[in-house]
Amino acid sequence: MLHAEGPLLTVDIGDRSTETTEIDAVHETFIGGRGVATRLAHDRIPFDADPFGAENRIYFTTGPMQASNMSFTGRMNCTSVSPLTGGLLSSNAGGFMSRNFASTGYGAVELVGASADLVVVHVTDDGVEFEPVPELAGATVSETVAYVESEHGLKHDHVACIGPGGENWVRFACIMTSESRAFGRGGLGAVLGAKNVKAITFDGDSAPDIEIPPIQMDVHRDAATADHIMKRQGTTSVTDLANEVSALPTRYFSELQFEGTEGINGDRVEEKKFKKATCSSCAFACKLPTKDEERGVETEGPEFETVMSFGSNAGVDDIVDVMQSNELCDTYGLDSITCGNVVSAYLASEDEFGNTDLIFETVEKIAHREGIGDLLAEGIDRFHEQLDVENWTVKGLDFAAHDGRTLNGQGLSYATATRGADHMFTTMYAWEYPLVDGEDAYDPTGLEGKPEMVIEQENARALEDCGIICRFSRSFMTPERLEGLFSVDYEALLEVGSKVVDLERHFNNRRGVDREDDTLPYSLPNFEAALDEYYDRRGWTDEGTVPIGHIDTAVSAD
Ligand code: SF4
Repeated sequence: MLHAEGPLLTVDIGDRSTETTEIDAVHETFIGGRGVATRLAHDRIPFDADPFGAENRIYFTTGPMQASNMSFTGRMNCTSVSPLTGGLLSSNAGGFMSRNFASTGYGAVELVGASADLVVVHVTDDGVEFEPVPELAGATVSETVAYVESEHGLKHDHVACIGPGGENWVRFACIMTSESRAFGRGGLGAVLGAKNVKAITFDGDSAPDIEIPPIQMDVHRDAATADHIMKRQGTTSVTDLANEVSALPTRYFSELQFEGTEGINGDRVEEKKFKKATCSSCAFACKLPTKDEERGVETEGPEFETVMSFGSNAGVDDIVDVMQSNELCDTYGLDSITCGNVVSAYLASEDEFGNTDLIFETVEKIAHREGIGDLLAEGIDRFHEQLDVENWTVKGLDFAAHDGRTLNGQGLSYATATRGADHMFTTMYAWEYPLVDGEDAYDPTGLEGKPEMVIEQENARALEDCGIICRFSRSFMTPERLEGLFSVDYEALLEVGSKVVDLERHFNNRRGVDREDDTLPYSLPNFEAALDEYYDRRGWTDEGTVPIGHIDTAVSAD
């Protein structure tokens, strides 16, 4: 089976020491990316670790596909214990950093400990350097990237950094790469902030020599030649459909259709798009650099999820306002989904939907933990009682768009997902709208047969995150092509994904997560029976815990 290569580099930020460990067995079993990082995190982070504590570890990994020139592979993985959910959480970012990471020759880089001073960590194939950077305290993402570029001659695609959000331990702060691409969900930026790491850079000439089967060229050619609406409108192409079928959260989840959709939909985004943009090696090029000359707003995005969180969910019907909120999040290093939902919760408590001045001001306050921003920076699960708003979260993570009250299988997936109400754990929505071919579509209503579908989707998405292959490859990456790429049958690939989900769940079980946490703030038909079936099919207990026999310790790096 094709897999990533290279040792684990451990960097102790506290005593400035480094160590390398061979992890061939972990690569061979978990392929790379989220799988390798999850295996290492499961075995090396104490189950009771404080997400902000020196004992928490954070992992950067890529997969074998970053040795290819295939479309859909310009991404990489980051894993740690989340300050937002309290559980083990992996996040996946696009951009251009993954191949620079691979060029260091390491298969995984792990940071542990905490520095007394703000530092930049430089990882190369020659070793690791620690650079104190007191002058970068409070710097925005673009200021930090400009510093690294001017001091070290490294372009933005070598840098992962945090903004003020991460430095101030905002629980939904991102790690930004290529300035506008984010390891977004779950507050991994705050983990770096707690370690006093402003940025980490990757550079070298030691990428492992991994031979990728020629089928990669078929995928790449199809991505290049496809006539697909995402090439023009990216993820925002789904906005009108979500609204039409009543799956677009509106005014802090109180409604499912937004009367102002026409002002924030894919057509409006396309009008503001001023050039093509992509991730490394990807001919699909679905990214969305947008600009409004009149107001002087320029950003990359917004993606559909931000159109929801800072648009319909905030009662905002002008795409330029959504673009401005998106840019503020990128500047300060905040997850634009959670930040928009948090701000929407605040607008609900103040009865101020649509008040864009208040929105922009609140984002600034959150990033700097000023005034009300200090409370909002804790996330909805922690502040909802104080503001007397409903708790629209699962396991502490607020909901993505694609509402589960209409797309019921997506709803079940929000309940079971390791990292909470997250749309990327399965992308069930794509089969329920449907965005896939008619014969592959699922009926969105009800949960009959859905536990099996959710499990297959969870395993398939986990496999992609091991690989690492972008979610938006779904029209191009058939099981046969995956078998050809990884040189193993599809069932064996899904089994890798299943092992990853088991490990994540087991870690989180040890932190207290069980059936009580697999809940939704709304009811779905036969939900408890569907949950029983889901646990049974996974081989978990009725309480949603993973039997220890499922956790193979033979491939531990220790
Ligand atoms: S499909 Fe879009 S998000 Fe995915 S790798 Fe290509 S450009 Fe990046």
